[in-house]
Amino acid sequence: MKLFFFFALLVFFLYFSSSTARGPIHSSLPSGFRNGSRISFSDSVRRQLFQDKQSKLSDDRAKGYMTNSDLEEAVKEFGRRCSNISRIYSIGKSVHGVPLWVIEISDKPGEKEPEPAFKFVGNVHGDEPVGRELLLRLANWICDNYIKDSLARLIVENIHLHILPSMNPDGYFLRRRGNANNIDLNRDFPDQFFPVNNDINARQPETRAVMNWLREMQFAASASLHGGALVANYPWDGTEDKRRNYYACPDDDTFRFMASIYSHSHHNMSLSKEFPGGITNGALWYPIYGGMQDWNYIHAGCFELTLEISDNKWPNANEIPTLWEYNKMSLLNLAASLVKTGIHGRIFSSDSGMPLPGSVMIKGINYTVKAGKGFADYHRLLAPGERYEVVATMPGYKPKTTRISLDEAAMTLDFILDPEVTTKGSLRSINDCKCESNCGLEFFWRVHSQVYFILIVVSVFLCFLLKRRMKINILNHRQLPKRSVQV
Ligand SMILES: [Zn+2]
Repeated sequence: MKLFFFFALLVFFLYFSSSTARGPIHSSLPSGFRNGSRISFSDSVRRQLFQDKQSKLSDDRAKGYMTNSDLEEAVKEFGRRCSNISRIYSIGKSVHGVPLWVIEISDKPGEKEPEPAFKFVGNVHGDEPVGRELLLRLANWICDNYIKDSLARLIVENIHLHILPSMNPDGYFLRRRGNANNIDLNRDFPDQFFPVNNDINARQPETRAVMNWLREMQFAASASLHGGALVANYPWDGTEDKRRNYYACPDDDTFRFMASIYSHSHHNMSLSKEFPGGITNGALWYPIYGGMQDWNYIHAGCFELTLEISDNKWPNANEIPTLWEYNKMSLLNLAASLVKTGIHGRIFSSDSGMPLPGSVMIKGINYTVKAGKGFADYHRLLAPGERYEVVATMPGYKPKTTRISLDEAAMTLDFILDPEVTTKGSLRSINDCKCESNCGLEFFWRVHSQVYFILIVVSVFLCFLLKRRMKINILNHRQLPKRSVQV
């Protein structure tokens, strides 16, 4: 009887937990959408539901929030006020021509250093404006405190922090989720499972701007800010069969660690009843396709989280100071975790001493982190408390493996790689050349000198044959008159 009672209790618990763990897609969605059975609705249906909802948002709700003009002025004002630790730049324009402003915060903004870059992206969905407000507060807080606060100083001195407060200013202006073309930007990136069209030119201007941004700049980690729930979401966002399941990416442990940093630094995210620890695998919550975080991880070498930072998508503006206090430490700790945890170092050549833009892999994790092109610095986030085998590689060089035991603190691990022995027995490889132009020249002469040698030998031989033939001809010519006399 006791056993039966226990079993019944277990069944009830499992049913209850699975029905609540689905979580809302966004808290302002119609209640039916929270039902797991409806989670496989197509994106177009989902967008339609959001559109219906948007009409209920009155302009009153925008009171106290920055308009797009206010945001632009706030960004420029920040640039003037904090010019010693920042620079302002735009990565492109929205459909309606609104610049997509970025604030870079660093003690050497705009300069290349052997330091990792982190980015925050806000307002991906137009009707989730809390992120853009908090990101401006974050920038100003760092500017006001980096001399006296150790965490702010650590970020300024060791990280290049890039902040895009609004990826979707048109959607914000229209008070809706999608951009001016009514496309959900977090479904507009090339997808690993369902690549409809991977041509960058087929993407929305805002998506294209972000993709080009990541081609030009190497980010080690990032987070986009959303609203409508309270959870830190990590890859994968989609599944191969479109079913709602936990779908782990190769760096699942590392992503869980990153997401936990955010949730546990937050006022109450980690206490969530819907999401254990305040974190969730994206595909377990609800699968999406064309999302930004998976694309970042796969194509840009960037570990990105999707952060749902407020239960209410568009709360009253007087709640923003509280939401800032709730999320402040999370935002700071997540950015700082990029240098406070993981392994970091540079890769060098043993014979020339030059930096090698190689790669770093962890045995057992199918993912490669590339070192920077200039300084050959790499920044590899990893879950602490584990032993790892770290492998550094570079074409033309012998790979090198180092075993480490990683604890909570960051570890510095440089690699010095030996050139591979070439077929001529020389230790020098083409990659060892100190500059590419000399290298090319050396290779040119090495190959062409052999051809020239053969040509010279053939020419000498032909000359010899020609000379010999001429001698014979002369002799024959001298003999002919004698013959004529005999005749
Ligand atoms: Zn969102």
